[in-house]
Amino acid sequence: MTNAITVSICNEVLRAILEGAKRVYPRESILLLRGKRKKGLIEVSDLVVPPFATRGLRFSSVPLHTLPMDFSIVGTVHSHPSGNVNPSHADLTHAFGSIIMIVGYPYQDEHNVAVYNHDGEKLALNVTEP
Ligand SMILES: [Zn+2]
Repeated sequence: MTNAITVSICNEVLRAILEGAKRVYPRESILLLRGKRKKGLIEVSDLVVPPFATRGLRFSSVPLHTLPMDFSIVGTVHSHPSGNVNPSHADLTHAFGSIIMIVGYPYQDEHNVAVYNHDGEKLALNVTEP
């Protein structure tokens, strides 16, 4: 892989994502990921609720192009109530930021999480302790 990027996320932030996804199940949840880009590494540090009503919207219906330009946003995370963590065609074409994180039902732990670049290539995910 030429563009190997590792995504790192702290366990606490990951838990918040999984809890949020459980709360809106069987609908989809979507959040913005805030963090830092370094060489070969994207560190996710925070979650941002998109500036519009999001509960239960399908990812592909979210008007991401209307978001303000914010370079601290490194990507998005949304849930797949089906449990399948593969990105859909719409997920890739509607991507905002560098990374697309997908959490799949039952939203238990990092085994229900996958992260991709815009080409749909799976990226390594490193879960860190706070
Ligand atoms: Zn999706």
